[in-house]
Amino acid sequence: MLYEGVLTKMQTEFSNPIAYYLVFENSFLNLNQLLGKELEIVHQGYQCLECGKKKKIFRQGFCYDCFMGSASAGDWIMKPELSTAHLDIEDRDLDYEKKVQLQPHIVYLALSSEVKVGVTRKTQVPTRWIDQGAIQAIPIVEVPNRYLAGITEVALKSLYADKTNWQKMLKGEIPAVDLISERNGLKYVIPKEVQEYYHPESNDLYELQYPVLEYPKKVTSLNLDKSPNFSGKLMGVKGQYLIFEDGTVFNIRTYEGYVVRISL
Ligand SMILES: [Zn+2]
Repeated sequence: MLYEGVLTKMQTEFSNPIAYYLVFENSFLNLNQLLGKELEIVHQGYQCLECGKKKKIFRQGFCYDCFMGSASAGDWIMKPELSTAHLDIEDRDLDYEKKVQLQPHIVYLALSSEVKVGVTRKTQVPTRWIDQGAIQAIPIVEVPNRYLAGITEVALKSLYADKTNWQKMLKGEIPAVDLISERNGLKYVIPKEVQEYYHPESNDLYELQYPVLEYPKKVTSLNLDKSPNFSGKLMGVKGQYLIFEDGTVFNIRTYEGYVVRISL
């Protein structure tokens, strides 16, 4: 079987285990069904996710021009505390920024490699945690805009990592942590203007199970630019990574906008 198209991040379903799909224009692949099977990935070209042109991908699936110009690649995406739509101040496109920033956001703790703090739009729960490969996650506060979420995250960065160690995440080397008691200790650590939004519930811990037959002992990242032709036996999917038997891991996110052919 041959599948061909532009890579975009895997679609997921919060089931037990999580279901993963690679979706192309006219077809899709359920990756859970491919566990234990050989597949070949061949890099064929590029197609920018924004303008659709066959230009080299710069970052996040965008060509250089689109990345620099697109409203959906502003600095406030990666640094929510820089959000200004609540003040009516434009970064690149105020209408777009209002739509994205002025909606409920969650600040959370997630256990992906160690405990990390992060921010997500409420509509992205639990997708965001699945994309990070977290095995557990818990909301700390729900706030009405991205700015308040951002300053909360900044306040918690002295206590927690804000990035996942992807090697540990993929090797399944995760310490046991009680996220509920971690979260319960944060009421007075978060900024004063956010404390009114702190209403912890006892049953809001998420547990996430991934389709992995066996975790690798060592991991090596597949670089599709240097190795445009890869084949291997799929042993698992976690976060946005495919895990192969020889320890090769393929981060789909890094290669959004790459045109590939996948053969089974
Ligand atoms: Zn483009």
